[in-house]
Amino acid sequence: MFVSISFSVVIFIDINRELSRFEVFQNIRRERLESEFGQLPTHPLTSAVDREIISEARGRLIANLLLLNTLILAISGGAAYFLAGRTLGPIKKMLDDQAQFIGDASHELKTPLTALRSEIEVYLRSKTHSVEEADEILKSNLEEVVRLQNLSDSLMILTSFERTNIQNVSMEMLDLKQIVSFVIKRVQPLAKDKNIVITDKSKKVELFGNEKSLIELFVILLDNAIKYSDRGKKVVISSVNDEKYVSVKVTDQGPGIEEADTERIFGRFYRADKSRTSTDKVGYGLGLSIAKEIVKLHNGNISVKSKVGKGSEFIVDLLLK
Ligand code: ADP
Repeated sequence: MFVSISFSVVIFIDINRELSRFEVFQNIRRERLESEFGQLPTHPLTSAVDREIISEARGRLIANLLLLNTLILAISGGAAYFLAGRTLGPIKKMLDDQAQFIGDASHELKTPLTALRSEIEVYLRSKTHSVEEADEILKSNLEEVVRLQNLSDSLMILTSFERTNIQNVSMEMLDLKQIVSFVIKRVQPLAKDKNIVITDKSKKVELFGNEKSLIELFVILLDNAIKYSDRGKKVVISSVNDEKYVSVKVTDQGPGIEEADTERIFGRFYRADKSRTSTDKVGYGLGLSIAKEIVKLHNGNISVKSKVGKGSEFIVDLLLK
């Protein structure tokens, strides 16, 4: 608008000067003719310029310049609004996501903290405490502290992966089979507790990735497969690959996931069936969001196929090189 108004002022001053010059010259011309030929008859060509025509031309010039500037203001205002919306949209989404994240995290922190506080308060209010009572309270408090520690660990892992990208993480050629064997060893105690058999059908294939994060990824998937399956069920980890990709599948015979939840479970703090998952299957709904970040770091893809009552199959596609 500043440029447009400056140009308009310059144009107006220039044209106005030309109009005044024209008026002055016409008058001089007429005076010269009159001194030579005496009083001239009033004719449009010989008469002095009509002042009204000049001021009308000025008026029209001002009106046109005003109209032009208004148009430019409207168009540039609209364009600025549209472009600002497009530029600020992702920033707004990021801020909304962050606010949602902080809200969810505070909510998750509140539950164990409230439980801790009320147990301690009840204990302190009672006059007589037995050693057994004190033990009971301490045990329960310890459970809540462990929950808090798990939550803070998960939050730290998630935020660290969100900030990591392929440039600032060490990537190397890794053997998928070795990673899978290592992960199975790590989750074996959990599987044994529930009498769950894990079968390894993964192939020996080399892929380019970050070892620590890939271990974390498969621990999350196998841990969920065990956590959500009933006793005595089977979990299988298998892989197929071509020259470019490897597709790793973690299949279980657990409760399955509703179709509507298959996308949402990868979001932060999302737990599919709260009534089913809130009691014995302790979690915060952060595991799969961490898994998603790890897969994103490797330019891969994670998805789930599931049938309620039959089981789930988590599929991770990773680039080999
Ligand atoms: P958490 O397990 O800590 O709740 P996740 O992000 O790992 O969090 O999983 C999100 C939700 O997805 C879980 O609460 C659960 O409802 C569902 N889910 C994940 N894995 C499985 C599985 N193998 N079988 C059934 N449901 C699953």
